[in-house]
Amino acid sequence: MAGNQQPEVNIGLVGHVDHGKTTLVQALSGSWTDQHSEEMKRGISIRLGYADATFRHCEGLEEPECYTVAEECPGGSASEPLRTVSFVDAPGHETLMATMLSGASLMDGAVLVISANEPVPQPQTEEHLMALDIIGIDNIVIAQNKVDLVSGDQARQNYEEIQEFVEGTVAEDAPVVPVSAGQEVNLDLLMQAIEEEIPTPERNPDADPLMHVARSFDINKPGTTADDLAGGVLGGSLVQGELEVGQEIEIRPGREVEEGGQSEYVPIETTIRSLQAGGEDVDAATPGGLLGVGTGLDPSLTKGDALAGRMAGPAGSLPPTWDGFTMDVDLLDRVVGTDGEEGEIEDISTGEPLMMTVGTATTVGAVTSAREGECEVNLKRPVAAEPGAKIAINRRIGARWRLIGLGTLKE
Ligand code: GDP
Ligand code: MG
Repeated sequence: MAGNQQPEVNIGLVGHVDHGKTTLVQALSGSWTDQHSEEMKRGISIRLGYADATFRHCEGLEEPECYTVAEECPGGSASEPLRTVSFVDAPGHETLMATMLSGASLMDGAVLVISANEPVPQPQTEEHLMALDIIGIDNIVIAQNKVDLVSGDQARQNYEEIQEFVEGTVAEDAPVVPVSAGQEVNLDLLMQAIEEEIPTPERNPDADPLMHVARSFDINKPGTTADDLAGGVLGGSLVQGELEVGQEIEIRPGREVEEGGQSEYVPIETTIRSLQAGGEDVDAATPGGLLGVGTGLDPSLTKGDALAGRMAGPAGSLPPTWDGFTMDVDLLDRVVGTDGEEGEIEDISTGEPLMMTVGTATTVGAVTSAREGECEVNLKRPVAAEPGAKIAINRRIGARWRLIGLGTLKE
């Protein structure tokens, strides 16, 4: 593919199921990630739904008409690539907030898709906006989608409802762009808003590379002989620094080893054998988009997402591993999507199980001590994280885990 650049910014697509997130990504990326048919890419995108889009510019045209994803401008001249963005399409049908939150840890900004033909807010519209609020993602563009299905008056009424809904939230000042993803209307205006509201974050090129591992696989077909066996593959995103083929890396928490009835996690070390970014093989990769990292690991170690939720980077540079921790706790006012008493969130109590998302890691823990605004947990599986890391706290309510608050990892 000519003109393919590595994506430099990750943008989450969030909002209620069926409001048009996937259609919008398809319209902007021109093609779905299936074009990269490699198992590795496909496997990653199914679960996290990454798709890259190169935003382009047509010289001599006014805003917003100058924005396009086509390689050819209306007059026939070639468009100039501006930047490649990677969309992370949060699965709206997924009731586990954790999936959204673990995706959110990799988002530099978000497009909140709201259907113009339904009352505002629908449950996941509210839930996802709250997650953005909690994680602190404030570069937001609102796509008021499906305007082709409503009259002008209905569109204006819905626009008012959106404004009212976002008042006092992190999306308060977000532009609301009426679009039709299905009919490809106003996508140039949406691109302009994204260019203006969601800049590529400044990266420190000297920082040690740090990768969030979101998935891991064994890409070998059954029956592959030992000689032909490809090493284990990690999928995820770099949050800082640069990774290179040939580099030695460490993965934390590594793997569980049993010794004398005791189990502990030991870091795994390996060498990067190949890198894939933006769907292409590269020698080096920087933050933005989805990365596939081929390693020298025995594929049985990476099979079936066995290493999902880990951190990877040069040995000695990774954040510490925690078997348990103390966190400051900020509880929500009420469970999202509920009204009145049923949604009240009671204080965290000693002994109760919690599900916590830290970066791309999801882990269950038992509360060993709870005080006002603070609690201590013992984790079933350890996580690697810096002190100060944000933790999404979920409690089992009825049949599902519900987001009840935000934790901050204490020293
Ligand atoms: P998601 O669940 O948010 O990813 O929503 P999808 O992208 O799967 O879209 C849900 C349905 O809405 C599909 O049938 C789409 O074809 C339809 N849809 C999406 N965008 C538009 C639009 O702008 N106009 C109309 N009329 N239908 C749309
Ligand atoms: Mg979808």
